Amino acid sequence: MDFFTECNKCGKCKQLCPSYQIFLNESFSPRGRIMLIKTLEKQKEIISGEPLKQRIFSCLLCGTCESLCPLDVNVSTLIYKTRAKMKKNLSLYLFKYFSFYPGVFFSILQNLSRSKLFLNYEKFSFLNKFSTLNIKPKQTGGLQVYSKLKPIGRIAIFSGCSTNYLLPSITNSLIYILNWLNYEVIVPKQHCCGAPLLSAGFKKETAKLAQKNIEIYKSFNIDGVIAPCPTCSHFIEDVYKEIIGEGISLLKLSDLFDKSQRNLNEFIKNSLEHKIFFHVSCHSSNYTKDADKIMELLQKFGISDIQKKTGCCGFGGLFSFLFEKQSMDILQKKVLEYEKADMIVSSCPNCIIQFKIAMRDKKILHYTEVIHKILLEGEKNGRKFFKF
Ligand code: SF4
Ligand code: SF4
Repeated sequence: MDFFTECNKCGKCKQLCPSYQIFLNESFSPRGRIMLIKTLEKQKEIISGEPLKQRIFSCLLCGTCESLCPLDVNVSTLIYKTRAKMKKNLSLYLFKYFSFYPGVFFSILQNLSRSKLFLNYEKFSFLNKFSTLNIKPKQTGGLQVYSKLKPIGRIAIFSGCSTNYLLPSITNSLIYILNWLNYEVIVPKQHCCGAPLLSAGFKKETAKLAQKNIEIYKSFNIDGVIAPCPTCSHFIEDVYKEIIGEGISLLKLSDLFDKSQRNLNEFIKNSLEHKIFFHVSCHSSNYTKDADKIMELLQKFGISDIQKKTGCCGFGGLFSFLFEKQSMDILQKKVLEYEKADMIVSSCPNCIIQFKIAMRDKKILHYTEVIHKILLEGEKNGRKFFKF
């Protein structure tokens, strides 16, 4: 597709662009970026000054503009292509290194975040994000297997880095649920999905990671793969296809419950008395489009007071490191909006991390953790009310 001839400059894409809403400047809108990129179209390598870098790297790759565009202009792909042509600086090369060795990144982060000395410097204040989280990876070595006596199938989990290193309880909950549904579960040693790497402009290297992950998951005799992160899901299912012609097709937990012989109605009733806001991440809204099915599933578990909330949390991976102030400003709007909720539930580990930084006293959970808790309590207490 020729992006430039397809864009008719109608401006519909900028209404909900989180980057435009925070910078309030046309050149930070999707339409503005398209026009800028048009001027760079013929260049093989782009050696740019700070103003151009700012405009190209302040896109959160959220996909909102694509959902709004009547002509289906694929802005994210355009941004990826432009970043790939831009000359890289040291911080982007570090990003590349850490995408191949996320364990090194998170262990450095853990040590730095414990150091009050570094936290006193504004430059390192992004470390505050992680100082409240327990950085303890789920998967560091080889294959992990969670067997069942007479399984109805075998499912592999693709955890993703945020889940594996920062919120491993999500993988634990998913394992519990899949076992409860009578599946044997495996968690193979896997690589980063590559989303941070591509967003930093390293397309060839992302293709390498994609190939490695595909080979790993092909090497097992499994009935399917499931990923608890919408960013990883979109990446390994759709973006891999765009960059190497093949993706990993994924199962959805809600479909497994639909197929299951286990009767939830007999098991769960009126299990939760909370006002819940279900935060739909940008990648869930715009790419995996699974929020309604997840909310229906939660309702089957007796959760009735649940409201769907959309809109960017401000994380955006690389964006939250390069544009920390703006990331926090976007987050602050959400904090105000979510004040009235007793609990925030999401399907996105990255949004959860972002919310945990700003709302330290609030219950913020992945939907698999909610289901896990309900199943666990149900096994113990039958149909009783309980509180989280
Ligand atoms: S909505 Fe689509 S066609 Fe309209 S300005 Fe944005 S990218 Fe161009
Ligand atoms: S992907 Fe998101 S942040 Fe980037 S231009 Fe589109 S709406 Fe704006």
